[in-house]
Amino acid sequence: APVTLSLDPPGVHEGSQLLLSACLSCDGCLSEEESLKISQQSLEEVERVLALNKKCDVSKHKVLVASICPQSLPFFAVKFGLDITEAAHKLCGFLKTLGVQFVFDTTLAAGFSILESQREFIQRYRRRHHDSHALPMFTSSCPGWIRYSERVLGSLVTPHICTARSPQQVMGCLVKKYFSKQQKLSPEKVYHVLVAPCFDKKLEAVREEFYNSLLETRDVDCVLTSGEIYCLMEQRKVSVEELDSVPLDHVLGEAGDVALVRHEGRGSEGFLEHVFKHAAKELFGLDVHEITYKHLRNRDFQEVTLERDGETLLQFAAVYGFRNIQTLVHRMRKGRVPYQLVEVLSCPGGCLSGRGQAESEAGGKVDKVLIQQMEEAYSSLPIRLPEVNPALHTLYQEWLQGQDSQQASTLLHTQYRNQSHTQPPHMQW
Ligand code: SF4
Repeated sequence: APVTLSLDPPGVHEGSQLLLSACLSCDGCLSEEESLKISQQSLEEVERVLALNKKCDVSKHKVLVASICPQSLPFFAVKFGLDITEAAHKLCGFLKTLGVQFVFDTTLAAGFSILESQREFIQRYRRRHHDSHALPMFTSSCPGWIRYSERVLGSLVTPHICTARSPQQVMGCLVKKYFSKQQKLSPEKVYHVLVAPCFDKKLEAVREEFYNSLLETRDVDCVLTSGEIYCLMEQRKVSVEELDSVPLDHVLGEAGDVALVRHEGRGSEGFLEHVFKHAAKELFGLDVHEITYKHLRNRDFQEVTLERDGETLLQFAAVYGFRNIQTLVHRMRKGRVPYQLVEVLSCPGGCLSGRGQAESEAGGKVDKVLIQQMEEAYSSLPIRLPEVNPALHTLYQEWLQGQDSQQASTLLHTQYRNQSHTQPPHMQW
């Protein structure tokens, strides 16, 4: 039975309880400083910024930009009873009525994360014989997993985490370091809101490496969950029918293609699939079109192998949910992880099941019907490989001075710290 924690970070989820079985903060609490920063990741804070924009003092005015995670869009599609593209346009229409000037989709940023993860995997694979930390490589897109690794697992795991920034933080960088420049705005004049499926992304946004202390601005100023935005719509009695359908904007302006696409996989950008296919081609000259998962312990612990003439060339795993993560960590401690890459996500089922959107209205439990509907909505989007996305090629050239540049390495990668030696609480996930 799940254990409940009375952990209500102010302004995050007032009046509700977080389940310990779903708690991704592992040591069960936030520091005072973190609580304060998290309290600024709220609707109230966005409303404060919007209110300042209506005052005469233009020095306090900000340009509001919202970026929507593709994992949030199926939630709105189901809630609005619309197809995913129409739901995205209605959501964009709603955000613009609030006073948000630009609304983006973070799929473009996820493309950068995927391409950088692919490149890093190849580099790690090639140095595996003289670097004991090179493999396995763990994916880096889930802040719940990163926080648990840094807080609890420490050096056992952190050197193995891919340094590519998560889609959220690439988007933050893109908005504050590319888009704001195009708009001739200083980064602190842009207030960047990210709409996401989970609360953990609030913790990621306040990490110090994503804060510019000189300009006192964050790459992502505020993360709001899909559920928080939907609540706001309900509070304001917004009728979806009456909302304007407004197409999303593109960071490249008119030149950008705003048609919604998705990446491969079950709803979490498909890092495993992308790196697997890339590595098969790059390392062994093999084209992989279809990926066949082998279920190991359950649907959230799966394996993919690449074989040639009876020899296993690659062995990757997808490990979702803390119960399975515990198994992975246990094997890691014993030196018995056979995989070269593990896609790790804290939520069972992946990002569509994020607790900021998939909880039932009664709270506590995930709404399985809603998740299934969201999966159907998500899979209706066409797939596009990041390798063939012209916007990514343009941005690599114009913004980052090429794929191998210092600029790309600085802006698209991050690092991890071993924060403490907190022992995991005695619990069964
Ligand atoms: S797996 Fe869950 S906690 Fe991790 S990024 Fe996805 S929704 Fe957030």
